[in-house]
Amino acid sequence: MIMSDANPYALLFEPIQIGPVTARNRFYQVPHCTGLGHLRPRADAAVRGMKAEGGWAVVSNQETEIHPTSDLSPYAEGRLWDGRDVPALRLMTDAVHAHGALAAIQLVHNGNHAQNLLTRAPVLAPSEMSVDTTHPKQAQAMDKADIWEFRRWHREAALRAKDAGFDIIYVYAGHNMTLAQHFMLPHMNQRSDEYGGSLENRVRLTRELLEDTHEAVGDSCAVALRFAIDEMVGADGMQAAEEGRAVVELLADLPDLWDVNVADWSNDSATTRFQPEDGYQNAFLSHVKQITRKPVVGVGRLTSPDMMLSMVKKGIVDLIGAARPSIADPFIPKKIEEGRIDEIRECIGCNICVSSDNLGIPIRCTQNPTMGEEWRRGWHPEIIAPKKSEAEALVIGGGPAGLECAMQIARRGYQVTLAEASAEFGGRVAKESRLPGLAAWSRVVDYRLNDLKQRGNVQLFTDSRLDGDQVAELGVEHVFVATGSRWRTDGMGRNTQRRMPHIEQSARVLTPDDIMNGILPPNGPVMIYDDDHIYLAGVIAEKLAAAGYPVVFVTPESLVSAYAVHTLEQPRIQARLIELGIDIRCNQVLTAVEGDMARIGCAFTGREASIPCASAVLVTERHRETALYDSLRGIGLKTLELIGDAASPGLIVDAVFAGHRAARDFERPKAEADKDWFRREIVDLEET
Ligand code: ADP
Ligand code: SF4
Repeated sequence: MIMSDANPYALLFEPIQIGPVTARNRFYQVPHCTGLGHLRPRADAAVRGMKAEGGWAVVSNQETEIHPTSDLSPYAEGRLWDGRDVPALRLMTDAVHAHGALAAIQLVHNGNHAQNLLTRAPVLAPSEMSVDTTHPKQAQAMDKADIWEFRRWHREAALRAKDAGFDIIYVYAGHNMTLAQHFMLPHMNQRSDEYGGSLENRVRLTRELLEDTHEAVGDSCAVALRFAIDEMVGADGMQAAEEGRAVVELLADLPDLWDVNVADWSNDSATTRFQPEDGYQNAFLSHVKQITRKPVVGVGRLTSPDMMLSMVKKGIVDLIGAARPSIADPFIPKKIEEGRIDEIRECIGCNICVSSDNLGIPIRCTQNPTMGEEWRRGWHPEIIAPKKSEAEALVIGGGPAGLECAMQIARRGYQVTLAEASAEFGGRVAKESRLPGLAAWSRVVDYRLNDLKQRGNVQLFTDSRLDGDQVAELGVEHVFVATGSRWRTDGMGRNTQRRMPHIEQSARVLTPDDIMNGILPPNGPVMIYDDDHIYLAGVIAEKLAAAGYPVVFVTPESLVSAYAVHTLEQPRIQARLIELGIDIRCNQVLTAVEGDMARIGCAFTGREASIPCASAVLVTERHRETALYDSLRGIGLKTLELIGDAASPGLIVDAVFAGHRAARDFERPKAEADKDWFRREIVDLEET
């Protein structure tokens, strides 16, 4: 599309020279993991191709192991150990080039961040140290021959990357996960040779890698440096204004592109709960462009075109970097280019995408249910099959599942009615987003409601609790029931698989629904019991502590919000609860709430203790709301489908996905839908 000068964001669409290649605009998808990688290369290529189709000028892959001594198994990142890995990566470069974008590869040696569980190779590091997980293994300090070998591996991987069709080749010194960075950091590099000691010595390896890569492939490929300019630990680590700046000065014009961010990953991919502002890395980036003449790309959960524009105008960056915003909406550049700003599906900063990587599973996204499904299910984030008939659909329940289902069925062109019992749309998301730190989650509702309200084929009703008779009276033959779930009051949960009668009888027992509906516990200490283990109990604890209640937080896990390890939030959550003065009791199972006491037992020994409390908030399991669905069975509807939390209580990402899948499968022949769940990348036994 030819850009009109009238577009206020025209500056974002200027081409940018990066070494020997040219980016068609300033939108740059920085490297991010997908959980697909070398195990699912077709799916990975389709993710990247979609970004290129959506208008990104540069599409990067993910950290790509250059050698068996950097083996990240069981995680499926990129792999380029030898020439046999080239064809899989070429799938990606072909997919990206097909849409006119440049393809970038993030070569990596992970040093002591690689456990080498598959290869059983020795672990390498600048100095003697443990691997950086709790795996009981140590790395060996690299000698000069090792460093020489490492440089050779990197050089040869760069040549293979060029062969695979990449246009931009990274040297990666970031996230506290790579050898190049480990050599830079005094707390990881205690060497006394020319690779240790002074900053110049510690930067030597990165300089050599940049020079080697230029020499090997610089004639036709750009050489990018991903550099973590600040470790966010103050004087105990690299700081942007101190050594971080000095590194930029030392290497100034050596890379063709500076991709600058902060470490570690939890700081780089901060969630909105702990870092609500978009552009939160700007303060760390701002001086880089004053030092180098080469283009600079930066990130910071950038979804607002105004923020992007101001960053370029202020000279903070040349290119707008994005990982999560490009996951939530691969079509951000196209939408800005075409003036469709209100159609941007903004990342909510929940880090469910990050959690997939940490779990070693294919990527998923709360906002974009098609993410990771491009190849295996053939889903496109912007395109959905048109309607097959003049059928009408009724969606009951306006939470994330119902909203997504209604929106996608409407996009297909069907007539849709969405009925919601309460006075507002959004279900659990509307309620949860009013809890501390979760305001940005309302974007899940805003995006969908905005879309639905603009469609002539949609009728939206709030304050409309439907029963079976009313549904029958409406006469709509295709019904999707997304009535959600409610929190249990009887204490049953993962660690207590029996009801606790005392608890059910106790008037002092509250659930998250009560708290979200504005009910306040009686005065006095509140015991919050978390057998859910992600965010909800923690934010309720924050809310009640802020309201002045003395809070005791009890969990059978050994960490507060243990599952939030995967979203990179766990240490922050526990720190926040400690700072709020909350009394944390880990490894404790709730056994009873009687009178003004909660009884707990040690998860290991069963040894009992009592906690005085005026009330208890139980965050355990949910009951599915299936009464309406049950009443509709057998009345002869052509479609009756239970979706979202009403079918299987889970995370918001699961509800959105369920709504999306139901809409895609609507009027799809059942045999076709059931035949194959999705395409699989099966090991080819012919190849060895
Ligand atoms: P999900 O995550 O599956 O979307 P939620 O709990 O967020 O589930 O949303 C379910 C929504 O369904 C709630 O907003 C609730 O008010 C609504 N709801 C429940 N029962 C009915 C009903 N009988 N008629 C209309 N809406 C209903
Ligand atoms: Fe953003 Fe959450 Fe999607 Fe990740 S999963 S891209 S954080 S909305």
